[in-house]
Amino acid sequence: MASFQDFAEVCQALSQTQSRLQMAELAGDFLAALNIEEAEAAARFMVGRALPVGDEAKLNLSGRAVWRVAAELTDSLDRGEDIFASAVDFGDAVEIVMRLRAEEPAPTLTVAEVECQLRDIAAIEGRHARQRKLDLLRGLLLRATALEAKYLAKILIREMRHGMSEGVMLDAIAHATGVPIEQVRRVNMMQGDPGRVLRLLRGGTLAPAPAPSTGLATRPLKPMLAQPADTVADAFAMLGSRFALEHKLDGARVQIHGAGGRVRIFSRRLNEITPSLPEIVERVEAALPGRNFIFDGEVIAVDPQGRPLAFQELMRRFRRIREVQRLREEAPVRLFLFDVLGLDHELLIDRPYSERFAVLEELARQSGLELVGRCLPANLAEAEQFYHAARAAGYEGAMAKRLDSRYSPGVRGRGWLKIKGARTLDLVILAADWGYGRRHGWLSNYHLAARGRTEGEFAEVGKTFKGLTDEQFRDMTERLLALKTDEHGGTVFVRPEVVVEVAYSDIQRSAQYESGMALRFARILRVREDKSPQEADSIEHIGAEFARQIVRPPGPPQAK
Ligand code: AMP
Repeated sequence: MASFQDFAEVCQALSQTQSRLQMAELAGDFLAALNIEEAEAAARFMVGRALPVGDEAKLNLSGRAVWRVAAELTDSLDRGEDIFASAVDFGDAVEIVMRLRAEEPAPTLTVAEVECQLRDIAAIEGRHARQRKLDLLRGLLLRATALEAKYLAKILIREMRHGMSEGVMLDAIAHATGVPIEQVRRVNMMQGDPGRVLRLLRGGTLAPAPAPSTGLATRPLKPMLAQPADTVADAFAMLGSRFALEHKLDGARVQIHGAGGRVRIFSRRLNEITPSLPEIVERVEAALPGRNFIFDGEVIAVDPQGRPLAFQELMRRFRRIREVQRLREEAPVRLFLFDVLGLDHELLIDRPYSERFAVLEELARQSGLELVGRCLPANLAEAEQFYHAARAAGYEGAMAKRLDSRYSPGVRGRGWLKIKGARTLDLVILAADWGYGRRHGWLSNYHLAARGRTEGEFAEVGKTFKGLTDEQFRDMTERLLALKTDEHGGTVFVRPEVVVEVAYSDIQRSAQYESGMALRFARILRVREDKSPQEADSIEHIGAEFARQIVRPPGPPQAK
């Protein structure tokens, strides 16, 4: 049995090295010595995931709740401000507060036990669920040493800060199992969860195993991602002429699995969102009863007349599970499919996109399910016409998809390009200034950052107070205060968790920021609830955009 204290000590050692190789060896050696169950859990814990991808959302423990439980154990709730001021991060603050106990328990927790308790917490539903979850967490923390509590807290808020990215974890798994890294990556593409990858490569079977009658996995695959392109002409230059254009819908990505007579829906981050979308479940069940399939698509919110609504309306559906029935009437949703990843007994991801789409069209014909608008442009003029018509109809832009491309789960490859009119970036909020005048009492000027060059670091590139409605300012203020780590000079510093999509006019050289670059006329378009900070745009990407801008003068592409 591996003790959780050993696990915490390995994490501590990981945080003390910068070398990717050393980290992979340290973590790999630790994982190799564990039995298969514990190795699965520990691999996941190490990258800051408490439970298998898809189950985490059920834990429902915010950082604030974890902090309260820990602080109450040592009667230190009123000392939060001091403790956070002296702590380097959230986990550190929890460790400090736990060290205030008169006596530290001897380490008795095992990795397996911690996992089992986390599963129990996730399984709690119904009356007083929140209180019962907190009670279990309290029980766990009571038995934890301060170092164990530190890493438990870090796992729960998904912020390990020891530099163990998913990439390094895959290296560690290769080291632990002796399996070549390419193969590890391939298995990861399908599984999207380091624990499962490790289990499979050590010869284990997955629990629950897919039912033999379905043939298809009922686990979500990572969605394929797209690279940005500025114009349709760029898409021709990058993809050659053999591609299709599809409408780019401004909604939420969904992966829909049908297996054993049940339909389940997963989000872009692989969380199960079936309960949020009852009408989609009913619609798909009725359209293809008893079939086994995996579809990729987008849902958008529409008004009672069927016209598309803003993305924020859709996000309300995912945040307010309890009100789904009411919201179902106020903001109904519509599903548009654009890919089929599996059908009956076959996984289709290695087949070319043109073949997959043909299968999808046939299914849509039989079932009445809707597909995204699409065209196969014969030349640049036709492609541009499709793109401009899409923009005029209110779509975000178009996706260009190479006809011979495979579906590469989790990969931002060259098979798919997204062509959007506006220049936008997904950035992380690091801090916010208290507003004045009309914005008094709200956090209103947001400090925006891109992913930095090292894992877990962020590089500031601008500030903005533009783009949010009054209600959104209020929501955002509440949200950021819950993530607060520090405050001085009218600025509240927060844990980097909230991702926003930002439009800007161009990128300037700037001495103000370490990155040397700043965005001009930045404006928040929306909160990207569906993206994690690790999925924000990187500073390298902004550097590349800056370089392109020098070659090509700024200005919206359609104005040229
Ligand atoms: P972005 O989120 O800006 O990186 O753009 C990629 C997202 O566009 C995907 O994750 C989908 O949610 C969405 N999308 C909308 N329409 C399509 C489409 N036809 N094909 C693929 N993705 C689409």
